[in-house]
Amino acid sequence: MENETVKCLIIGSGPAGYTAAIYTARANLSPVLYEGLEPGGQLTTTTEVENFPGYPEGVAGPQLMADMRKQAERFGTDIRFGMITQVDLSQRPFRVIVDGQKEILADSLIIATGATAKYLGLESEERYKGQGVSACATCDGFFYRGQDVAVIGGGDSACEEATYLATICRKVYLVVRKNYLRASKAMQQRVANTPNLEILFEHTPEEVLGDANGVTGLRMRKSDGSEATVEITGMFVAIGHHPNTELFKGQLDLDETGYIKTQPGTSKTNIEGVFAAGDVQDPHYRQAITAAGSGCIAALDCERFLLDA
Ligand code: NDP
Repeated sequence: MENETVKCLIIGSGPAGYTAAIYTARANLSPVLYEGLEPGGQLTTTTEVENFPGYPEGVAGPQLMADMRKQAERFGTDIRFGMITQVDLSQRPFRVIVDGQKEILADSLIIATGATAKYLGLESEERYKGQGVSACATCDGFFYRGQDVAVIGGGDSACEEATYLATICRKVYLVVRKNYLRASKAMQQRVANTPNLEILFEHTPEEVLGDANGVTGLRMRKSDGSEATVEITGMFVAIGHHPNTELFKGQLDLDETGYIKTQPGTSKTNIEGVFAAGDVQDPHYRQAITAAGSGCIAALDCERFLLDA
C-alpha cells in the first residue's frame, strides 16, 4: 500500500477544519487536509449566512466555505479530496487509511468531521430543502420573519428553536410526535410562556406541501388516525444531530451521544496528539463561528504539542 508521513493531518473541511488549516499552515506545520464526502461541510447546504462576523451584507454559505478553502490554500495547506476509511490511534505516528488504499502516518491529528443534522426522511422534505425546509433556525429563521412556520421535535433543540423563531415569526407550531416534551422543565416553561407558539402533540409529519416558490404547508397524522394540515412557509427539523465519529469508536473517549470528549477549554482528546474541533465535539453551540474558533484552538494546541514532542 502506498504510504506517506505527515506532520499534521486534518480531517474535515468545515469552518473548524479550514481554520485549523490556516493556523497550522502559517505555523509551518505543512498540514494535509482531507475534505471528506461533503467538501465545505454543512454550510454548503445553507443559502445566505448573515451572522458570520466580517460580512455586513451576508455571504452565501458555499461562498464562505470557498473563501476559507482559498485562505487555507494560500498558506500552503495540501487539500485533498478523499475519505478517511480507517484510523489506528494506538501508537504514534497515527496510522490513517484513505479510501481504503493509501496509508498516511501522521505525527498529529486534528479531527473536524462535524455532525450531520437528522431529517425525517420524507421524500417531500428532500424536495424543499433550502426552499423552506431547514435544520437550523439560527441560520435561516430570519428569512421567515412575519410568517408562519413549524418546528419538528420535542427536545431542547426544538424548544429552543421554536422560542427563538417565535421572536421573529408570526406563529410557530411545535410538532411533537409523543404526548409530552422531552425537553428540560426550564425549556418547557419557556415554550409555555410564548403566546404565539402552539404545540401540536401526537402529530407526526407525513408530507411537506409546496409549490414552485417553496413550502406552503405540512400534512400530519394524529395519533387517533385522523389527518391535520397547517399552512406554513418554513419547516425547521430539530430532531437531533449525529456526530460523525464512527471512525473513532473504541479508540477515542466519546460521550453517551457519540460526541468526542475534549478536556474543558482545550481541543485535547484522551489521546495525546489527537485534537478535536467543531461540531464533532460540540453538541450545544454548533455555529460556524464557534466551529472556526475551536479550529483555531486545535491548531494552537497541535502546534504546542509538536514543539514539545
Ligand atoms: P433530542 O434527542 O433530545 O430530542 C429529539 C426530539 O426529536 C425528541 O422529541 C424526539 O421525539 C424527536 N424526534 C426524533 N426523531 C423524530 C422523528 N423521526 N419524527 C418526529 N420527531 C422525532 O435532541 P436535541 O437536539 O433536542 O438535543 C440533543 C442534546 O442537546 C440533548 O441532551 C439536549 O438536552 C441538549 N441541548 C441542550 C440545549 C440547552 O440546554 N439549551 C439546547 C439544545 C440541545 P421522541 O421524544 O418521541 O423520541
